[in-house]
Amino acid sequence: MRNAAPAAPTSSPSDVLKRIGLRRTPVRLGVLKVLADSPQPLGVQQVLELLPEHTDTVTVYRTLNTFTTKKVVHRVRGEDRTWRYALGGSEKSSAQPHAHPHFVCETCGVVECLEASQIPPTFVRSLKVAETYEVHYPEVTLHGVCPKCHA
Ligand SMILES: [Zn+2]
Ligand SMILES: [Zn+2]
Repeated sequence: MRNAAPAAPTSSPSDVLKRIGLRRTPVRLGVLKVLADSPQPLGVQQVLELLPEHTDTVTVYRTLNTFTTKKVVHRVRGEDRTWRYALGGSEKSSAQPHAHPHFVCETCGVVECLEASQIPPTFVRSLKVAETYEVHYPEVTLHGVCPKCHA
């Protein structure tokens, strides 16, 4: 399913919810705001810590899942194998939601979106996967040492 109108890059949390046809709730707005303010992908625990106290954990999990399905956020696994969530999906590029690679630091565990880097459009083709597999998009995660730990 394609979105009717291309989203403005600066759409507010309530614009985003309207676009994907979800009712505005404090948790949905809060999660979008927390992710928008974060320079790097966040785990569920980190998101919870930035939301008001007593926010329901299950609701936050469900909200992040919904946002992932609706391609408002994308997720990447960290060193500890838990998901980190970052804004952007169809929000930034509807054709290739995961066009940037991710970096996981083996020392401090930080997960970053390498938004300045591009997964080449020919990447999937270059893997020569059998045609019987329907590939929707690639996910590239680079593991190593981040600039902070490298210093
Ligand atoms: Zn590091
Ligand atoms: Zn990312």
